[in-house]
Amino acid sequence: MLQSKDSSEANFKIPNIKFTKLFINGEFVDSVSGNTFETIDPRNEEVIARIAEGNKYDVDLAVKAAREAFDNGPWPRLPPKERRRIMLKFAHLVLEHVEEIAALDAMDAGKLFSDVKTSEVPNVAEVLCYYAGAADKIHGTTLKMSSEIQGYTLLEPIGVVGHIIPWNFPSQVFAYKVAPALAAGCTMVVKPAEQTPLSALYYAYLAKQAGIPDGVINVVTGFGHTAGAALSSHMDVDKISFTGSTEVGRLIMQAAATSNLKPVSLELGGKSPFIVFDDVDVDQVAPLAFAGAIYNKGEVCVAGSRLFIQEGIYDKFVKKLEEIAKTWVVGDPFDPNTRHGPQVDKKQFARVLSYIEHGKREGATLLTGGNALDRKGYFIEPTIFINVTDDMKIAKEEIFGPVLSVMKFKTVEEVIKRANCTKYGLAAGVMTNNLNIANTVSRSIRAGVIWINCYFGLDPDCPFGGYKSSGFERDLGMEGLHKYLQVKSIATPIYNSPW
Ligand code: ADP
Repeated sequence: MLQSKDSSEANFKIPNIKFTKLFINGEFVDSVSGNTFETIDPRNEEVIARIAEGNKYDVDLAVKAAREAFDNGPWPRLPPKERRRIMLKFAHLVLEHVEEIAALDAMDAGKLFSDVKTSEVPNVAEVLCYYAGAADKIHGTTLKMSSEIQGYTLLEPIGVVGHIIPWNFPSQVFAYKVAPALAAGCTMVVKPAEQTPLSALYYAYLAKQAGIPDGVINVVTGFGHTAGAALSSHMDVDKISFTGSTEVGRLIMQAAATSNLKPVSLELGGKSPFIVFDDVDVDQVAPLAFAGAIYNKGEVCVAGSRLFIQEGIYDKFVKKLEEIAKTWVVGDPFDPNTRHGPQVDKKQFARVLSYIEHGKREGATLLTGGNALDRKGYFIEPTIFINVTDDMKIAKEEIFGPVLSVMKFKTVEEVIKRANCTKYGLAAGVMTNNLNIANTVSRSIRAGVIWINCYFGLDPDCPFGGYKSSGFERDLGMEGLHKYLQVKSIATPIYNSPW
């Protein structure tokens, strides 16, 4: 592993932080309590800015604004083509500010600036465009009723939506949730993660510039157990859409159940298998397997953190992984040579290191890495364990760090069984040139997204979400829109119909 320069050497001008207050009813406002919290730069553990700390009272105000905008405001009532026009303008404004937003996420989350700039923020615009195009294609069906009744369905916006957003993809997940809800005609309160509040506030500002009416998008920054819990248990929120850990997903479902029974959608954790068969080109697939687990310092819900390698190529593949680790650059996310930056915060940093210690204690062999970097900030080496068994903690639990567990297998049947032996079911990778094996394995794995001979391939048109304890319902695609719609059936008697 190599180390990169820090950002002063990388010579990047960090933008000023423009937005630090809550965004409620079209205005940036202080929290009711006047409290603020620090958002920390994980590269150097310094304070980036103090952010308004919203709690129950601020959530109440934000929900009230969203309720008013839904019940009496123009947004749900606009002709869909108007919603489309405004959403396209929003997308356009996002593209005009790509660099500034990317810098915010890179600083707040320790994400690679170049990735956020060239991929994630442009993807926000793509997703907005995709759902802008869907806004005027929302329609129900005419029913062929059995008796002398005619019927049809109407798809109506579900109402006030609470979006609870994680810190690992602050921009992309914002778009996955906000864009379809806007297209559906909903109004909303967004609760970004406390580690990464900056870009959501920036998007709120751009939404207003684009012409999205006041009260339609509100952003309440603050902590999960206060602001997040107030949103998920609110009696006047009609739907919660959440991405985050399985533990918090469970709390959100409980809060929804014990309040007003609002429906929830959950996109949760994973421990995804990345399966490599003997027939692949090792030089081509090993970098994909490495990045599948280590990309974004492993802070990826679909990380392919369980690598199953068939026995015929096992030794060669492991050697290649070791070589890749040697040239992998860890350091400042603003340096274009860096391949991964710091973990998001001190808590995650400590958590990942404790999993690495567990791996060693459980008897797995450390192939590469295993340490924090000897510098300020939350940097961890890319870490590969071999001789991992299925029952080890590092093979079973989501680590959310740059840690890859490598296992060997013999047969197709065996690997399907072992890959499915997890409480999670978010994603899987299948690497083979044998079409029959690819088909069998992809249909046998119980997970929401299967990548054959690629990894991380996502598109606004591709529904994304999990099986089992990885959650339910989908972001993206038309499924990602329909969860913000209610189906209303309308029936009326019909007399003397010729049909
Ligand atoms: P962690 O930060 O421990 O990894 P998550 O990744 O699940 O937790 O957090 C994702 C989002 O859920 C964040 O916006 C966080 O503030 C929020 N959250 C955390 N706890 C709760 C809770 N009890 N109720 C609602 N939201 C919560």
